[in-house]
Amino acid sequence: MASPKLSVIIPVHNEGANIAPLCERLLPVLDRIASAWEVVFVDDGSQDDTLERIREIGRREPRIGAVSFSRNFGKEIAIAAGLDHARGDAVVIMDADLQHPPEVIETFVERWREGYLMVYGQRTDRTGETRVKRGFAQLFYKLFARFGEIPLPEGAGDFRLIDRKGVEVLRTLGEKARFSKGLYAWIGFKATGVPFVVEERRFGTTKWSFRKLFRFAFDGMAAFSTVPLRIWTYIGFVVSFLAIATALFFLVRTLLFGTDLPGFPSLIVSIMFFSGIQLMSLGIVGEYVGRIFAEVKRRPLYVVAERIGGAAEVSNDLVPDASRMRRA
Ligand code: UDP
Ligand code: MG
Repeated sequence: MASPKLSVIIPVHNEGANIAPLCERLLPVLDRIASAWEVVFVDDGSQDDTLERIREIGRREPRIGAVSFSRNFGKEIAIAAGLDHARGDAVVIMDADLQHPPEVIETFVERWREGYLMVYGQRTDRTGETRVKRGFAQLFYKLFARFGEIPLPEGAGDFRLIDRKGVEVLRTLGEKARFSKGLYAWIGFKATGVPFVVEERRFGTTKWSFRKLFRFAFDGMAAFSTVPLRIWTYIGFVVSFLAIATALFFLVRTLLFGTDLPGFPSLIVSIMFFSGIQLMSLGIVGEYVGRIFAEVKRRPLYVVAERIGGAAEVSNDLVPDASRMRRA
């Protein structure tokens, strides 16, 4: 077998200014640690000059390629596309904004050679994020640890190395609501963490609004837990029990002291309270039904509009390819 090849997957969405500085720092690292490597950018519907920048660098360095989506599909799906197109024996996933220091990849590869099939970067601190964001992140991880199907390693994100075996398993998971962090943990394999310090974002701003993050957190929860569904059964039991107790109380009181009419405010309040609870539980059920609907539609995960460089030759993706269809 030829010496192992390393693939680096980088999802990019409007990162034009970051492409050149990133390559400047990443390529020397790759040259040092691997005799054969490739970089697969996944252009997630950028509206700026991201793709132009990649094309420019790709002309000088054919080991740099790109898959360009027809629109923005989201980072999770960009990662899935990267896994479809990477050909390495080990695949590294990293962000384009230099928050993931490329030098750490060297340690990833060392661990991989020691026999770990999954090596994840572990952020040592979350400074640089607002307090509120950090608080919500902590709450999410706590809830996930308590109710999720699988434990997530502390502080692990998308910055990681995955062996070919793991990549092939991940590629068979066809779910549309992709919570990669959960999927990485779900596939198992021998894993280890490498601590790293998150650097400042180089150019541009984060692509994650608070709303998007919240959505993402719920996606993650819904994909790996049915507790949000089951909890309503318990709440239903408790409420019914309370109702019976209250009924008994009123029955006894009426028998002993007769009826009295006042009590409208409490009536209205309890009606509103319990309809609120019912709507909430219906809403949660609706969220799951919506996800089932999204899955059964069986749409492809992404649509490729264009390919550049090495990634262009790969045909191992299972989805229709707009750029090919045009040519045919
Ligand atoms: N990204 C993407 N599609 C999106 C949003 C983000 O491909 O819809 C990419 C982005 O270009 C970057 C990485 O995902 O390379 C991480 O995004 P960002 O830095 O905005 O997230 P943060 O570091 O704040 O979590
Ligand atoms: Mg970032």
